[in-house]
Amino acid sequence: SKMTKEDVLKLADREGVKFIRLQFSDILGTVKNVAITIDQLEDALNGEIMFDGSSIDGFTRIQESDMYLRPDPDTFSLFPWRPEENGAVARLICDVYCPDGSPFVGDPRYILKKVLEEAKEMGYTMKVGPEPEFFLFEYDENSNPTTIPNDDGGYFDLSPMDQAQDTRRNIILALEKMGFEIEASHHEVAPGQHEIDFKYEDALRTADNICTFKFVTKTIASQENLHATFMPKPIAGENGSGMHVHQSLFSNGQNAFYDSDDDLYLSDIAYYYIGGLIKHARALTAITNPTINSYKRLVPGYEAPVYVAWSSSNRSALIRIPDCHGEGSRLELRNPDPSANPYLATAVMLKAGLDGIKNKIEPPAEVTEDIYCMTSSEKEEQNIKSLPGDIMEAVNLLLEDDIIKEALGNHVLNKFLQAKQAEWSTYKAEVHQWELDNYLRLY
Ligand code: GLU
Ligand code: MG
Ligand code: MG
Repeated sequence: SKMTKEDVLKLADREGVKFIRLQFSDILGTVKNVAITIDQLEDALNGEIMFDGSSIDGFTRIQESDMYLRPDPDTFSLFPWRPEENGAVARLICDVYCPDGSPFVGDPRYILKKVLEEAKEMGYTMKVGPEPEFFLFEYDENSNPTTIPNDDGGYFDLSPMDQAQDTRRNIILALEKMGFEIEASHHEVAPGQHEIDFKYEDALRTADNICTFKFVTKTIASQENLHATFMPKPIAGENGSGMHVHQSLFSNGQNAFYDSDDDLYLSDIAYYYIGGLIKHARALTAITNPTINSYKRLVPGYEAPVYVAWSSSNRSALIRIPDCHGEGSRLELRNPDPSANPYLATAVMLKAGLDGIKNKIEPPAEVTEDIYCMTSSEKEEQNIKSLPGDIMEAVNLLLEDDIIKEALGNHVLNKFLQAKQAEWSTYKAEVHQWELDNYLRLY
């Protein structure tokens, strides 16, 4: 049920919409927007709204000219927390175009669309179901976020251990009003940590949904005087926040990962896809785990993956095969975290899988033992590599991988590198509390 421009105009009128937020994403995955009034909506839908992109992260002003936003009518949605009468607010997610009518190569949504097009030419559509985790922290008296969790509940706890049931409920109600189908929500392992799972959809829709999910969660939490953060590892010594990504390919309406004759009910296509993901895992981690903080999560002992391996049984592996066959056949990639730009992350995961299919890349043998209990020589024997240990190692692995670089294109790659090098150089020059704790007295 795709919406047309006319549908959007009618719906906006019926709902008494006064303001429309035209949204897009920068290279870091931050949602940006410009608000227009209802009088401009028709022009906006015709792609006539111009903006100066030079101050957006990873964007650039092409030959000193402005960029254009082309809303995707199918993304029209009201903000349920804004007034309903006398000035409702709606949003539209936009593609970014250059003045000459070509898509802007720095637009992450375009980067994903390009890889989706490649999949389509091979006969596939991609379905994606994410599991974003987040923390709820208290504000201090100056309204700055702290790292004091809102409760000390744990995995699947109920109230009173779980103090966030109402906050989660309000987040879910808002998301449902915006068209989300919520499947489950629960307290996660760490104090103050939560997860809300929404139904899998086509890859582009899911990437849009992840952006929406993050800002809706932040918005509703702050109304309840809590700070929601998708920072991957806010508290040392506690579980971090991941964003496991369930993925499958469909072909002619059928799940192309399903084969009833296989021991694990997986098709050759699924195995090649796994082969591609394993081959490119170390390079695409720079995109799925793009912050310095991301690598503080990818350490042993906190249910986050460290080694490049796949398994149908054990959760320590990077790729897990959920016990679900037929329509629901899929694999779960466990390294991504919610600081990733969902468009770029989906683009590189899909690109890796497609490379596996094109080149019939056989995955290594399934690992059924606990990798954390293996010695280094056992790991070496089975050729089990580690994920990169920090963002610079990840970036260097990315630079060695032509397939993943191709998915991003030169513009995004270069802007991403610049941003990461800048972050790394200030981080490196910082003196951290750990150093003071360990060296101040000793030396
Ligand atoms: N929080 C864990 C992670 O960092 C995942 C826990 C789970 O399995 O849901 O990936
Ligand atoms: Mg979880
Ligand atoms: Mg999971």
